[in-house]
Amino acid sequence: MALQDSVSAVKGVGKKTEVLFAKMDIYTKQDLLLHYPRSYDQFGSIQPISGLKEGEVAAIEAAISGGVAVREGTYRKVTACEVSDGTGIMNLTWFNMPFLRSYLKTGKHYIFRGKVSKKSGSLRMEQPKLYTREEYYQKSRILQPVYPLTAGITSLTLSKAIRQVLPELSVSMDYLPPAFRKEHQLINLPAAVEEIHFPKNYDTMLEARRRLVFDEFFLFLLSVRRLREERQEEPSSFSFPKLTLCERFLQALPYRLTGAQERTWQEIQRDLARGTRMNRLIQGDVGSGKTVLAALALCAAAENGYQGCLMAPTEVLAHQHKEELDRWFTPFGIQTELLTGSMTAKEKRLAYERIERHEADIIIGTHALIQDKVVYDKLALVITDEQHRFGVKQREKLSSKGELPHICVMSATPIPRTLAIILYGDLEISLVDELPANRLPIKNCVVGTDYREKAYRFIEKQVRLGHQAYVICPMVEESEAVEAENVINYSSRIKEALSASIQVGMLHGKMKNDEKNRIMEEFVAGSIQVLVSTTVVEVGVNVPNATVMMIENAERFGLAQLHQLRGRVGRGDAQSYCIFMAGNTRPETMERLEILNHSNDGFHIAEEDLRLRGPGDLFGIRQSGEMSFSLGDIYQDAAILKEASDAVETLSQKEQEKLYENGKRYYDRVFSYGEAGSVI
Ligand code: ADP
Ligand code: MG
Repeated sequence: MALQDSVSAVKGVGKKTEVLFAKMDIYTKQDLLLHYPRSYDQFGSIQPISGLKEGEVAAIEAAISGGVAVREGTYRKVTACEVSDGTGIMNLTWFNMPFLRSYLKTGKHYIFRGKVSKKSGSLRMEQPKLYTREEYYQKSRILQPVYPLTAGITSLTLSKAIRQVLPELSVSMDYLPPAFRKEHQLINLPAAVEEIHFPKNYDTMLEARRRLVFDEFFLFLLSVRRLREERQEEPSSFSFPKLTLCERFLQALPYRLTGAQERTWQEIQRDLARGTRMNRLIQGDVGSGKTVLAALALCAAAENGYQGCLMAPTEVLAHQHKEELDRWFTPFGIQTELLTGSMTAKEKRLAYERIERHEADIIIGTHALIQDKVVYDKLALVITDEQHRFGVKQREKLSSKGELPHICVMSATPIPRTLAIILYGDLEISLVDELPANRLPIKNCVVGTDYREKAYRFIEKQVRLGHQAYVICPMVEESEAVEAENVINYSSRIKEALSASIQVGMLHGKMKNDEKNRIMEEFVAGSIQVLVSTTVVEVGVNVPNATVMMIENAERFGLAQLHQLRGRVGRGDAQSYCIFMAGNTRPETMERLEILNHSNDGFHIAEEDLRLRGPGDLFGIRQSGEMSFSLGDIYQDAAILKEASDAVETLSQKEQEKLYENGKRYYDRVFSYGEAGSVI
């Protein structure tokens, strides 16, 4: 028996479950162990209805006071009843569970647990779970792991499967020697894995989490370290003697580079002239103008007879870059080519041919750029935008394509410098810490939903002035579990609410790629004026004519993510506005959103976010951006990160190698996916 065995070897996992597990990227027993809970649920004591507060998750013990009704809703059957516990009454509803009607008996007592909400003055719970007293008592004593799931799989199914695999772990499998664990106060690996899935109590769970987060950071840092060793002073024969086209390009720009852009461009030129490989991180807040720096470097590659790549995390962004670069490069005779996953086989084949024959100088795309099939001719420069860092895996892929190119990574994730040095230890860092001078600071407001009508009138006004607006909703479609605005329903509603002459478009991740691109193009062209979208526009999208960003259910997003979203406006000369619409106006929500209201500075926001969440809030809304580990959070767990970094420093290179290899063996899957060096 081995942890690499298929999950089908686990008792109770049949064909059907196996297929569903695969959807969650769980293929082996090991994957099960590495599928960590997203958070924990602890059942509190049963509360009187009169004492309930809106927004909390609570349990009540109450009797069905009237009948149980089932009605046809717009999308599904709704089961509803009223319950009372003597202190108050409450309305309960369930979607698509009509069978409850025969189970719930008028006058009988049940325990219901769910999130308390309020609608037209009366207390409600949607989709509450039902328990008997015994069941509830059992559950209330332990922390219940809450797993990321897929439809058809419950936390219980997962827990059971994990429980079966646990005995296969033994202390001898721990890659960290006992003395090392003692020094850094880490519990052993099997204990940590067991505790993270089945915590005895909060404190033991924290210890387990600390160990596993340490592992994530530690192995990541070891791999960064290896990259650095390899990268240091690596000779490169891609030299860049000619830069006259770049000069002309600069002169043709409608603006002058900011001081920070100019400095970074100098640094890039120095890298390219040095005779060794460039490994540079360009870090700059949203809107600081990183794209033009990429364009300059790519222009230099083309001018010197090389190919260059620009890799983006989404197709939407890849398309946008292609268009922007075409606008810049066509006058100079630089040929570009697009390569994305959603292109047809024929389109791809043609692109491959043009790339191989060097008919294209600059290739823009998604991960498809480093597929095996692509054959480059003198690929000298690879730039990744808003991307994972460039790690071992990608390096291996690239090295099979000839001499290793110069590498440049562009990121808007606001990481404090001390953390950046730890996390990007293998890269040199350029900071673009200045916004173009023509920018007016974005005007913000934080409002409740009662302001929505006014916001619509404001959007109409902006559209009449020739501008455009984004409206962001957290969900794609209506969901049973989450009460939040969704793009599909919302866009038809806003169409009704806005003047008929305004074109509304919608964009979300479930749409086909070519449809997404079409919508985005129409928005860029201005034929769509209001774009209702999910966070797919979060990264990189640049439509300088858009001046309003309105975010529905702003409370559902992390501050860093809200800041990124806001960064979609304020990219041109016109005054821009960001409306944070809060779905609830509870003090915690407002306090968080106030931070954004008062600051447009990504670094400041990241720090405030951390301060507000405090050390106890381990499973809050996660930071978005490329630096996401599966458990660890670079901001919240900065202390563990520091500890891991210090631990790496004390080890000899030989010890580092050994621990890295051994650790990688256990965390095999994490590596093949996120693989330190390209954290997912
Ligand atoms: P980001 O750093 O977020 O990727 P972009 O490169 O998309 O930012 O630039 C944002 C906007 O600022 C673009 O519309 C771009 O044309 C403009 N821009 C970039 N540099 C300057 C500059 N030096 N002066 C004026 N506008 C600039
Ligand atoms: Mg960008």
